[in-house]
Amino acid sequence: MNENTINIIGAGLAGSEAALQFAARGWKVNLFEMRPTVTTEAHETGFCAELVCSNSLKSTRLDTGAGLLKGEINRMGCLLLGIAAECSVAAGHALAVDRLLFAQRVTEIITAHPSISYITEEVSALPAGKTIIATGPLSSDAIMESIRALIGANHLYFFDAIAPIVSTDSIDFSKIYSKDRYDKGEPDYLNSPFEKTDYLEFVEALSSGEKHEAHEFEDKFFQKVDFSFYENCIPVEEIARRGVDTLRHGVMRPMGLEDPKTGRKPYGVMQLRAENADRTAYNIVGCQTMLRYPEQKRIFRMIPGLENAEFLRYGSIHRNSFLDAPKVFNQDFSLKADPDIYVAGQLSGVEGYVESIASGMMIAMIICGEIEILPPETILGQLQRRLLDTEAKRMQPVNANFGLLPELENTIRDKKKKREALAERSLASLETYLHTRSI
Ligand SMILES: Cc1cc2nc3c(=O)[nH]c(=O)nc-3n(C[C@H](O)[C@H](O)[C@H](O)COP(=O)(O)OP(=O)(O)OC[C@H]3O[C@@H](n4cnc5c(N)ncnc54)[C@H](O)[C@@H]3O)c2cc1C
Repeated sequence: MNENTINIIGAGLAGSEAALQFAARGWKVNLFEMRPTVTTEAHETGFCAELVCSNSLKSTRLDTGAGLLKGEINRMGCLLLGIAAECSVAAGHALAVDRLLFAQRVTEIITAHPSISYITEEVSALPAGKTIIATGPLSSDAIMESIRALIGANHLYFFDAIAPIVSTDSIDFSKIYSKDRYDKGEPDYLNSPFEKTDYLEFVEALSSGEKHEAHEFEDKFFQKVDFSFYENCIPVEEIARRGVDTLRHGVMRPMGLEDPKTGRKPYGVMQLRAENADRTAYNIVGCQTMLRYPEQKRIFRMIPGLENAEFLRYGSIHRNSFLDAPKVFNQDFSLKADPDIYVAGQLSGVEGYVESIASGMMIAMIICGEIEILPPETILGQLQRRLLDTEAKRMQPVNANFGLLPELENTIRDKKKKREALAERSLASLETYLHTRSI
C-alpha cells in the first residue's frame, strides 16, 4: 500500500470527517461503510454521517462546552461543521440540521471526491496498512470480534436511550404554544403546559410504566448487563423515579416559559423541537426512554396536545460500545496491540456528535504529523487526556463540558463571565499552539 493511503472503516461522523481531512491533504482514502447492505438498530438510511437521534449538534455559544468545542474545531479546519451550517434549521443558539439533507450532502461530497474510494462492505477482518476504525457505538458484531481478538476482552459497553418523534399534523395546537425560554428571538420550540394534577399523573405513569429488562439485551458480548447509564442520557422514566419534582426542575422546568394564553407560568412544561426544516415532525425533548412501545403511546399521549399523537419513531434503547481507551491506546490513539490501527469517534470513548466529528479530525491531523496532544486549556485537549488517563478507575465516555478545563488563575464568581474567560483562554492557547505549527 502506498505510504499516503489510509483505510477508514465506518462512514459515520468520525469516519466521514477523517476521510475528508485526508483527502484534502492529498491522501488516497479507502472508506468502508456497511450500510445499506448491513444496517444497525438505529440508522435509517444508507447515507454517510447520519445523525441517529436528535438533529441538534448542540449549542454554538462559546460559554457552553459543546459551543467551545465547535469554536476550537472550526479554527482547526473542521469540514463537517461547515456542511452542517449549510443544512441548518432554526434552533435558537443550537446548531440543528435537517438530518436527511446533511447526510445526503456529506455522501455526495465523499462519493464525488477523486481521492476517496467509497466501498460498501461490512469489514470483519482488519485490513493491512494504516487503518482507522470509526465504526461507532453500534459497530457490527463481526468487527467487534476482530477488535476483541486483537486487544483482548478489554472493550466496555453501556446502553443509551433515544426520544420519540411525533408527526406535526397529529399535534393539537390549541393546547400548545410556540415560545423559547425567556423569549430569545424567533421561537423554535413548541411547549405543552402541565397543570399540577396532569404533571403528577404523568410522573406516576412514567415511573410505573412497563419497560424493557436487562436480560432481553444480553448477547454473546454482554454476558451480564448492568444498565449503567451514561449520566447525560438517562431515560426519562428513570429521572421520574428519582423524585416527583425531578423532571419539573430539569427538562420540564417552566422557568421563562409563561403560557401566553393565561400569562401564568405552568406547573411543568414539555418542550417539542422540530426534527426537520419543514417542521413536519417534532422530537419530545429529553424523553429518551426504554419503555415498551404500547406504554410509550399511552404515556406520552398524556402530554397536553399529544392526546392523538402519531409516533413516527418510538424511543428505544440501544447498545453503545466503546473501548477501554487508557488501557488499549498509545499516546497517538493507535492501538498498543497494532500501532498501524487507530480508533476514532464514539468507539474510542468520546460521547456525542460533535465530539465524534472532532475525534475524526484530530486523528487525521495526528496521523499527518500536524498535531499531538493539544493544550490542556482546550476542550479537545482535555478529551484527548481523558482517553489516555491511565489513573482513571473506570473508563467512562466523555463529552465536551467546562468541568474538564483547569481552573483560571483568578477567581471569577459570575458563572457566565467565568465561562467566557475559560473560552477565551482556550481559544488563545489553541491559537498559539497551531501558530507554532504553521496551521
Ligand atoms: C441510538 C443513538 C442515539 C444517539 N443520539 C445522540 C444524540 O442525540 N446526540 C449526540 O450528540 N450523540 C448521540 N449519540 C452518540 C454519538 O454521537 C453518535 O452515535 C455518533 O454518530 C457517533 O459517531 P461515530 O462516527 O463514532 O459513529 P457512527 O456515526 O455511528 O458511524 C459509524 C459507522 O460505521 C458503520 N459500521 C459499523 N460497523 C461496520 C463495519 N464492520 N464495517 C463497515 N462499517 C461499519 C456504521 O454503519 C456507521 O455508519 C447517539 C448514539 C446512538 C447509538
